[in-house]
Amino acid sequence: MFRILIVLIILWIAWILARRHFLNLCRKEHSMDPSEKSDSTHHRIVPTVKTVQCVHCGLHLPEVEAISSPHGFYCCREHQQLGLPDESRQSS
Ligand SMILES: [Zn+2]
Repeated sequence: MFRILIVLIILWIAWILARRHFLNLCRKEHSMDPSEKSDSTHHRIVPTVKTVQCVHCGLHLPEVEAISSPHGFYCCREHQQLGLPDESRQSS
């Protein structure tokens, strides 16, 4: 009786692993499908593009377009100048 249980459990685990593997294959095939490509790429691009916030005006923009500094990210050079600590503001 105990052996039958073990065999059933092993079969059950094998079934789950096979099903998971099959589902992964299906997803890969779906992403290759040109009709679904536009939709799936939209879903993929959104999480990969990291957005940052300008510490001066609070604008959200892609990290690649932002100007990084030790204090944070800025949307433009002007805000980088304005956003710097007090020492640079004394000139204006
Ligand atoms: Zn800004």
